[in-house]
Amino acid sequence: MTATDTQFAQHLSTQRVPAEERAAILADPGFGNFFTDHTAIVDFRTDEAGVGGWRDARLEPYGPIALDPAAAVLHYGQEIFEGMKAYRHADGSIWTFRADANAARLNRSAIRLALPQLPEELFLESLRQLVAADQDWIPSGDGESLYLRPFMIATEAFLGVRPAREVSYRVIASPAGNYFGGEVKPVDIWVSRNYARAGRGGTGAAKAGGNYASSLAAQLEAEAHGCKQVLFLDQFNDNAVEELGGMNVFFVYRDGSMVTPALSGTILEGVTRSSVIQLGRDRGAEVTERTITLDEWRTGVESGEITEVFACGTAAVITPIGRLRDGDEFIGAENAQPGEVTMAIRSQLLGIQTGAVEDTHGWLTRLV
Ligand SMILES: *Cc1c(COP(=O)(O)O)cnc(C)c1O
Repeated sequence: MTATDTQFAQHLSTQRVPAEERAAILADPGFGNFFTDHTAIVDFRTDEAGVGGWRDARLEPYGPIALDPAAAVLHYGQEIFEGMKAYRHADGSIWTFRADANAARLNRSAIRLALPQLPEELFLESLRQLVAADQDWIPSGDGESLYLRPFMIATEAFLGVRPAREVSYRVIASPAGNYFGGEVKPVDIWVSRNYARAGRGGTGAAKAGGNYASSLAAQLEAEAHGCKQVLFLDQFNDNAVEELGGMNVFFVYRDGSMVTPALSGTILEGVTRSSVIQLGRDRGAEVTERTITLDEWRTGVESGEITEVFACGTAAVITPIGRLRDGDEFIGAENAQPGEVTMAIRSQLLGIQTGAVEDTHGWLTRLV
C-alpha cells in the first residue's frame, strides 16, 4: 500500500447493536463506556528486504484483538494514541476538529516511541470510514459527540528489546455525553509532590499510554485527598507548573491577559491548548507561553492578580479549576464559581465545534 492508496476493505458487522439498544445507550452514554459497531484497522509490516509499509486497511466489526502473548506492546509498552471528537451539525453533516493537528501529533509521538509514521491521508480516511459506518452512533444533544480514539500498538511477537517490525494502527469510537452532565463545576486539584509524569528527555510530549500508567499512583493520591485531578510540577525548575494528567492549564489575570506553561518537552501540546491560545488572542487578550511556578500561582491568587484558572483538553473541553490542594494547604476559594473568561472561551470553542459559531480559522474537517 502506498501513501496515496487509502482504500479500506469493508468487512462490515452482521451483528450491529439493535437500534433500540443503541438508543438507550445514546440517551445517557457517559464517557468511554460504550463502543460503536466497527473498528478501522491498518497494519504495518517490515518485509524480508527490511522495507516497512502500511497495508490491509479495512473496517472490521468491533471486537477483541488477537495478540501473541509475546507481542511487544504487552511487555515494553510501545503504544501511542490520539483523542478527538466527531460532531453532528444541525444540517446532519458530521465534522471533526483540527484533525491535521492530531495527525501531526500522532506522528511526533510515533517518532518518540520508535513506531512508524502514518500518512496523514490514511489517518483522515480511517476516521471518515469509521464515522461513515457508525454515524448512527453520534448523539446529537447539547455538548454531545462521538469520541474517536486512534491508537497504534507494537504487535510483533519478540521479546528482544528493539522497535517492533509489526505494528497495528486502529480507531475505535465511543459516544460521549456532556462531560459535566450539563453543569460546569470547578474541580479541586491535588498537587503531586511524590510523583512526576514526565522528565527531561522522556516521553512527556508524546501521547503515549505509558505516561498515563505513570500518572495513576498520583491520581489515587489525589482521590484519597478529595481531589478529582492531579497537577504535575517540574521540581527541578522551581516547581514550574506543567499540566494535569490529561489536560493543559491556563491562568487568567486581572488585566485580561492569559498565561499557559510553555512547551518544555515534558508537556503534551494539546490541540485544545493551541486553540485556546488563538481564541484568547481573537478576544484581544495578550496570551503568553512561559514558565509559571507554583509560588506564582499561590501569590497571584492571594493578591487577586490571577482571577481564573482552568484546564483544557478534548474530552472535557474546558474545566474550571476550583481549589488547588498542596498537602494541607489550599490555594483558591472553596465553592468558587466558573470564571467569566473561562466560560466565554468554552462556549466559543464548543460553538465552533458544533457549528453554532462561524469557523473563521478553518479548523473543521467534514467527515460525512
Ligand atoms: C491529550 C492530552 C492533553 C490534551 O490534548 P488535546 O489535544 O487538547 O485533547 C493534555 N495533556 C495530556 C497529558 C494529554 O495526553
